[in-house]
Amino acid sequence: MLTSVSPLPGSAIVPTTLVKRDAFGDEYDVMEVVLDKVTPYQHIEILDAATFGRCLFLDDIIQSAESDEYIYHESMVHPAMIMHPCPKRVLIIGGGEGGILREVLRHNTVTQVTMVDIDREVVRACKKYLAEWNQVAFDDPRTEVIYADGRAFVNWTRESWDVIISDLTDPVKDGPSSGLFSLEFYEVVNQRLAEDGILVVQGESVSPDELDLHLAMFRTIARVFPRVRVHSAEIPSFDDTWGVIVASKRLELGVLAPCEVDRTIAARGCSGLRFYDGTKHSLLNSLPHYLRLAQSGQGQIITDDQPVFIRTNDGSQTSS
Ligand code: SAM
Repeated sequence: MLTSVSPLPGSAIVPTTLVKRDAFGDEYDVMEVVLDKVTPYQHIEILDAATFGRCLFLDDIIQSAESDEYIYHESMVHPAMIMHPCPKRVLIIGGGEGGILREVLRHNTVTQVTMVDIDREVVRACKKYLAEWNQVAFDDPRTEVIYADGRAFVNWTRESWDVIISDLTDPVKDGPSSGLFSLEFYEVVNQRLAEDGILVVQGESVSPDELDLHLAMFRTIARVFPRVRVHSAEIPSFDDTWGVIVASKRLELGVLAPCEVDRTIAARGCSGLRFYDGTKHSLLNSLPHYLRLAQSGQGQIITDDQPVFIRTNDGSQTSS
C-alpha cells in the first residue's frame, strides 16, 4: 500500500512524501513510483526509495533493493557453486529480477542456465527498469528463460541439473509460489538433480521471532535430501537476516578453506564480487546457537495437504 504523508499536516506548501507500507507493516519512504502494475499472478511495484534506492516489491513484499541486492544474490549463488566441483547446467526456479542469473553466469564452467519464472511481466519490467542489476545476463547465449509454473516445469521435464536454485516469492496463501515449498515438490526436484548436484533454496527469515517458516522448510528439505546445511546473511532492506538452505544427495557440503575458495573464484573467472570471498565462506559455519538448536527439534513438515505460509501483518497467512 502506498500512502501520501505530509510532514506538516495542513500545510499546502510542504511537499508530501510517499510511504510504502509492506505486508509486514514496515515502511519505506518513496521518492518515485517507477512502475505499479497488477499481472495475472501478482502486484508488481518498482519504487525509488530514499534509503535503499530502486526496489522491487511483489504483493507488498520487498524482493530486492539496489543498495544491497548483491548480498542476497551472491549468498544464494556462490557458496553452492563453489562447493560443486564443476557446475555446468543450472536451473533457476523463479528468479525474476535476474540477479541470480547474473551471479550464476559469472562461473566459466556454466554452459547452460534455464530460468523458469511464472510471470513474464516481472521479467519484462526488471529488464527495463532494473537493467543495471541483470546487466547482460538475459542476453547471454547460455541463458534460456521459460515462462511457466516452476512445479509444472519440473514435473514435465526429464532433464537433470548440476545446481538447482529456488528463488521464489514467499509462500502466501493463494499466491503463485505456494505450491513450491512442499515435500512432494522437493521429491520431484530431487529427481531432476544430478547425483552430485546441489539444491539451493531461499530459506526465509532466520530471526528468532520469525523462525516457523524457515524451520518447516528446513525439516521438509531434510526429509528428501540426506545432506542439508544453512547459512545466512543480513539484508538491510529486508530489515532481516535471511536463511539460505543448501542440500545435496551425496556431495559433501563441508566448509572449504578460504584460500581454496579464493583460488576457485579466480579459476572460474568470477570477478567483481562484493560480498562473497574465501573469508566470507569460512563464516558459513557460524549459525547462531538458537538456530542450530531449533533446527535439531521436531515439528511440522510442509506437504501439499498441510502447507505453511508466511505470516504477514494482516494475520491472514498462517499455517493451514
Ligand atoms: N529475491 C526474492 C526474495 O526476496 O526472496 C525472490 C526473487 S524473484 C523476484 C521471485 C520470482 O518468483 C518472481 O519473479 C515470481 O514471478 C516467481 N514465481 C513465483 N511463483 C512462481 C512459480 N510458481 N513458478 C515460477 N516462478 C514463480
